[in-house]
Formats: sequence, C-alpha cells, structure tokens
Amino acid sequence: MSKKGYFTELYVGGKSLLVGLGVTFKACLQPIVTVQYPREKLDITPNYRGHIELRRDPESGECPCIVCGMCARACPSGCITVEGEKKEGEKGKTLTVFALDFTRCSLCGTCVETCPKGAIDFSQDYNIAGFTREEFHYDLIRRLEERG
Ligand code: SF4
Ligand code: SF4
Repeated sequence: MSKKGYFTELYVGGKSLLVGLGVTFKACLQPIVTVQYPREKLDITPNYRGHIELRRDPESGECPCIVCGMCARACPSGCITVEGEKKEGEKGKTLTVFALDFTRCSLCGTCVETCPKGAIDFSQDYNIAGFTREEFHYDLIRRLEERG
C-alpha cells in the first residue's frame, strides 16, 4: 500500500469511529425507555390479549358459565374442551371441565365474543414460558380458583 493510501484509510477509519461515537453519545443523552426486566415490569395495556380465562361475575362472585359449549364449538382451532354435569335439584349444569390447549390458540377472540354469559375474557399473562407442550394445556377452572 502506498503512503497516500495508508493515510486515506486512516482518515476514513478515524472519521467512521468518530461518527459512531457521536451516535452512541447522542443515544446516551436520550430518556431511558427500557426497563430492567424481570426486576421491573411495565403495566400491560387493557387491550392486551393473553390466553383466555374464566371470569367471575362482579356481583355474585360466581363464574357465569352455563356449560352451553358455544365457545368450544365456535373455536376455529378446536382448543377448548367444556364439560359439565347435572346435579340433582339444580336447574342448570355445573361446570366440571374447562380445558384450553394454548398451543393451538390463535387468540382470535371468537370464544370471548360468542359466549352469551360473558364468562370468558383474555388474561393479562404475558411472561409465559415452558419446556413442554403439556405445560400450555391449561385447566381454566383451577386457574380461576387460584386467582380467588
Ligand atoms: S381465542 Fe380463538 S383460537 Fe383461542 S380459544 Fe378462543 S376461539 Fe379458540
Ligand atoms: S364459557 Fe360461555 S360459551 Fe363457553 S360454555 Fe360457558 S357460557 Fe357457554
């Protein structure tokens, strides 16, 4: 390499380094928009769609599901299983199984819109991780009980 070529390369490299440092320095002066997850967590927007979950009626405190099975029939992915039993002396059925295979759910919302009793809604769960597919097979009755 000639002497002139050597200095040209040195100039171009130095200039590029200074431009890069300028960009970094500018970014350092910007307000911080990230958080130290998982130590810090941001509030989730109310419109966020996590997996579906059973909900309670705010007045009665009971889950208003009437075991009609419309959500399961409407689900395009076939990922909801609903079962119930008729107990003696009771008018309607009691919900015994409400299972969701979240590995197949597309979060389309058809089940939520179809439910005539407003018994299901989207959860706010976003930090869901697991090692097996089975970990994403949810018992939504148990989850409702755990939520209290
Ligand atoms: S959100 Fe859509 S895909 Fe998921 S369970 Fe409901 S109907 Fe099925
Ligand atoms: S969640 Fe709603 S649509 Fe599904 S079985 Fe219960 S009442 Fe019917």
